[in-house]
Amino acid sequence: MHNSNQPIKIIVAIDGHSSCGKSTMAKALARRADYIYVDTGAMYRAVTLFALRHATNEEGQLQPDLLEQRIDEIEIAFQKDFETGLPQTYLCGENVERAIRGLEVSQRVSEVSALPFVRLKLTQQQQQMGLKKGIVMDGRDIGTAVFPNAELKVFVTASAEVRAQRRYDELLHKGQEASYDDILKNVVERDYLDSHRELNPLRQAPDALVLDNSYMSIEEENEWLWDAFQQALAKAQDSCLDE
Ligand code: C5P
Repeated sequence: MHNSNQPIKIIVAIDGHSSCGKSTMAKALARRADYIYVDTGAMYRAVTLFALRHATNEEGQLQPDLLEQRIDEIEIAFQKDFETGLPQTYLCGENVERAIRGLEVSQRVSEVSALPFVRLKLTQQQQQMGLKKGIVMDGRDIGTAVFPNAELKVFVTASAEVRAQRRYDELLHKGQEASYDDILKNVVERDYLDSHRELNPLRQAPDALVLDNSYMSIEEENEWLWDAFQQALAKAQDSCLDE
């Protein structure tokens, strides 16, 4: 039962293709609504970094058995950077924000995130994070597997070329080396692998609102999301009063 003295809070699930700006809009919404933001892609990337460091053979091939044996050693946390206020990802106490965004991790993350024991562990952690609601979570399976009852589900997409250009600009802006062609190839490959894996593949939840932001500015998409959020919140309030 909802305590009527507390403002009602909802869960916002934002899924979609790689590099379509999900995290930018999710962060903006979380800031404006004073909700917690969780980047689940960063969690899969952190596990991938751990796997590259501790669970590959001499040829660099992933050793799933080895990763499974050590899976409970993996601790992932988020902390805001003092200066920028942006969330930083920590793996076993080490700030790995930069390392997890590079091409090496991007090229291996779909392989690691298809492993059932990895998905099980991260899905459980994500569900724990949402127990109190008031959360905006972005990823690939949030509205379908992590929070199938989320009050607001959004599925974001944009053309592969637009997405590759955005990721390229982002890496250059951060001073990291990048090749547009390699990024485009990676974006297309990841979409394919993420949508075709057996467990919790990327797909649009039937009740998700779809946003193609290929030709939208960041301000436009933020306003679109804010309106959708207000409507979902009003609907949740109404159904709470009906109870
Ligand atoms: O969102 P981002 O591009 O950082 O995600 C990196 C990768 O993590 C995706 O390509 C996908 O393989 C995996 N992922 C996932 N499920 C999620 C979030 C990300 O499988 N909920």
